[in-house]
Amino acid sequence: MDGMMMHRPLLVKDILTYGTGAHRRGEIISVRTEGDIHRQTYEQTGRRIAQLGHALEGLGVTFGDRVATLAWNGYRHFELYYAIAGIGAICHTINPRLSAEQLIYIVNHAEDRVLFLDTTFVPLVEAVLDHLPKNLTFVIMTDRAHMPDTTFPALCYEELLEGQPESFDWPDMPEDTACGLCYTSGTTGNPKGALYSHRSTVLHALMTIVAQTVSFIEGKKVLPVVPLFHVNAWGLPFSALMSGLSLVMPGPKLDGPSLFKLMDDEEVFSAWGVPTVWMGLQAEMKAQGRKPKGFEDVVIGGSAAPRSMIEAFEALDINVCHAWGMTEMSPIGTHGTLPRWMDDAPLNKRIDYKQKQGRRCFGVDLKIVDDNGNPLPEDGRATGELYVRGNTVVSGYFRNEGASTKAFDKDGWFGTGDVATLDPDGFLTLRDRTKDLIKSGGEWISSIDLENAAMSHPAIASCAAIAVPHPKWDERPVLVAVAAGAEKPDLEDVQRHLSEHFAKWQLPDDLVWVDALPLTATGKVSKLTLREQLGDYQHPDLRETA
Ligand code: AMP
Repeated sequence: MDGMMMHRPLLVKDILTYGTGAHRRGEIISVRTEGDIHRQTYEQTGRRIAQLGHALEGLGVTFGDRVATLAWNGYRHFELYYAIAGIGAICHTINPRLSAEQLIYIVNHAEDRVLFLDTTFVPLVEAVLDHLPKNLTFVIMTDRAHMPDTTFPALCYEELLEGQPESFDWPDMPEDTACGLCYTSGTTGNPKGALYSHRSTVLHALMTIVAQTVSFIEGKKVLPVVPLFHVNAWGLPFSALMSGLSLVMPGPKLDGPSLFKLMDDEEVFSAWGVPTVWMGLQAEMKAQGRKPKGFEDVVIGGSAAPRSMIEAFEALDINVCHAWGMTEMSPIGTHGTLPRWMDDAPLNKRIDYKQKQGRRCFGVDLKIVDDNGNPLPEDGRATGELYVRGNTVVSGYFRNEGASTKAFDKDGWFGTGDVATLDPDGFLTLRDRTKDLIKSGGEWISSIDLENAAMSHPAIASCAAIAVPHPKWDERPVLVAVAAGAEKPDLEDVQRHLSEHFAKWQLPDDLVWVDALPLTATGKVSKLTLREQLGDYQHPDLRETA
């Protein structure tokens, strides 16, 4: 027998109408590319989003169209999230750190209709212009006075909004309608698109608020350092508005001193980001001998939070929540809020637990499996590949049948490529990864792609790109190569060769020549043995400081 309850679709417009009403005094405070700090209330934001909705319709954007953004964290980017979803179109956030090749690929693959960009990214677009779809409309996210000169025709964001009605009758639509698209480069080959729905977006916001009650305190301020172009800034544009947290948007400057000043001036309560940015902030905190005013809560994810980082925050009464997730999971899967029964545990033990990747959020199922796909016990010891299932996990990749089939097991669980243990209290600990990738400063570099490109160098017979630990970037790529003949080109030569296909930060930092690479039984390079063989090899930056 069915329950007898109303059924309303879960839609992003409901977060918008609820948040801009119930939390109308909440604010978005943004460091702008124009150079100043801009403030507006959620109520004003709601009116501007309505204007933007009309403007988008005026540009001919209709249901299902992809509208791309190339932008920092700021109020206009936030407005785009809601207006695009509100009219039933899809907000495609583009990561400006991708290589030109990847950027061209995803704009064409997504068939974007309109591209909204910050002034900062004009040169980036100009560099790839000839390879972008011919019918793409460009809108620069600034006012008339700050419009830059461009070699392509571009509209002005503020002019588009001017004179538009300040309310919009947002349409109803099925809750499974797509509203967001984010390509992950956490993969080999071309980036793959995670296509979020209104339903998954609303559920993800609810789910994270329930998991992290310590972070979501109405009236406080939250700082997403995690970019709006990387998995929706971990959902904060939605969960903050839903729960009445004000948003402090840092714009382009993410170095320690800039973040410290912004957080101090605005009395940011909670800040979210990858370990690399907290390295910078902690250095500034050390230099100033204090923490930014009002800073009490930090969410760390994207890469493993080092113990020393957790300890340094906790020593200043800043609660650390170490979270884990993936682009394919909207992204949050687990959260590091400790259970109440640990309140009286000694600090050392609490930190042991904070170092783990946390416990699952409501609605996310986790399992670890052996090489044959059989579930392993959750005893904190058995180690296997982590699979996930839930309403906020992708069911396939956008327009990519082949990759979609490979990513799931026979029961429909998604394979994360992470290798982990689960303990009886539900804590996840990542131990390794099966995916052949290097994560530097929270962004991916594919080792296989590096190897293939390096092997096209005439002097390289075979090679392996490996991740080596780095104090600032967490991991950095190093190329281990076997020479084809007597010639052994230097690092710069190989970097030049690779730079055609990779962004500058993706290039290997060192080149190590060896006589042969160790192979596995199946003839693949054994990176495990290679790492052992390299013994106490250190990244060049570490050697210089040693
Ligand atoms: P992305 O899709 O780019 O957000 O990357 C997701 C991947 O980042 C995961 O599958 C992990 O390999 C890694 N990752 C995310 N969070 C953590 C964490 N807290 N600790 C270690 N690795 C993490």
